[in-house]
Amino acid sequence: MTFLSNRINNLSESQTIKMAKMGRELSAKGIDIINLSFGEPDFFTPDVVKQAAKKAIDENYSYYTPVSGYPDLRKAIAEKLKRENDLDYSFEQIVVSTGAKQSLANAVMCLVNPGEEVIVPTPYWVSYSEMIKLAEGETVFIDASVENNFKISAKQLEAAITPKTKLFMFSSPCNPTGSVYSHEELANLVAVFEKHPNIYIISDEIYEHINFVNKHASIASFPSIKDRVIIINGFSKSYAMTGWRIGYMAANKEIASACDKLQGQITSGTSSIAQMAALKAYQSGLETVLQMKEEFKKRRDTVYNLLKEIPNIKVNLPDGAFYFFPEVKNYFGKSYNNETIHNAEDLCLYLLNNAHVSTVTGEAFGNPDCIRLSYAASEKVLVEAVSRIKNALEKLS
Ligand code: PMP
Ligand code: GLU
Repeated sequence: MTFLSNRINNLSESQTIKMAKMGRELSAKGIDIINLSFGEPDFFTPDVVKQAAKKAIDENYSYYTPVSGYPDLRKAIAEKLKRENDLDYSFEQIVVSTGAKQSLANAVMCLVNPGEEVIVPTPYWVSYSEMIKLAEGETVFIDASVENNFKISAKQLEAAITPKTKLFMFSSPCNPTGSVYSHEELANLVAVFEKHPNIYIISDEIYEHINFVNKHASIASFPSIKDRVIIINGFSKSYAMTGWRIGYMAANKEIASACDKLQGQITSGTSSIAQMAALKAYQSGLETVLQMKEEFKKRRDTVYNLLKEIPNIKVNLPDGAFYFFPEVKNYFGKSYNNETIHNAEDLCLYLLNNAHVSTVTGEAFGNPDCIRLSYAASEKVLVEAVSRIKNALEKLS
């Protein structure tokens, strides 16, 4: 291993990807695995979007695109931000990338110097801490517990800020907790950021449409800090396009052109075909997105009612996204067939091997007392999955 760089040796493997891979390997052996580890919609990409991609191939959209994406797509994104979020961005402020994941990495790389601090509320999405590590930044975690519905307060934010703080990074609706910050809650955080004009804010809004409580609130809608906000969004969740690898950021022009420069050296921009498909997605409106949301809501209610029945776990009702993040620490120290559960990772492996359901340890999201279940599967499959989990947990004593 020593010939590899320290950079890669120090990097943790993505636990979402690892658990999905283990699940796939067991499925390939003929075991009936239910995969609740990976956060990806089980729906198909809408037909109009697929047609647009086929047309793009036939019309020879086969050349390199501008690094930040086709101007028409970037204009359509700016129009979407106006139409759906009442936010003003010009197309030069949009950078299209190989998934929202790359947009996040671009922003972190372009903003964080070695030793600078990035504040991340926990639980957080699995890749944030590793991206910060790659940029040689220091992550400062703020704990948001199940009792606070996994949200942080302005007071907690204020206490975490130091002269070295460069960036704050969060998602709402949140992966893995499903928590959604309201406009008022964001206003409280904004009041803190107003006092600290050198802090930038990455606002990951990829689950914006999977919100069961109220209209999506973006922290970029506060004019006093808008110029310091980097909005991250994409097509993976709202248009069921995970494999197409297309996402974007909206930021001030200086940040956008820095990301263009970085991306110009690393990927040259994302696929021309995916871009033409994404353009159609934004031109086609929200009908399919809203249908998916309704379906997710039904599944959320079903799974919530079933999870509540399991003694020893603590679960909140998520307001958005498509995950549950139950606290499972009451099972730590229990055993079955000489196998003792020491932590959340052991519990996930136990569930994989005994219930044939794959989940992800909360450790990967900064909370070692929990596990994450994705409910992006049909209701029938979800009912079966929770029943298997319940049976497996009952055996632990
Ligand atoms: N942010 C969050 C919170 C996510 O859950 C995901 C899901 N993969 C991403 C970013 C990255 O999405 P994409 O598929 O567009 O890279
Ligand atoms: N966002 C999904 C998840 O959290 C996809 C996996 C990934 O991109 O790491 O599971």
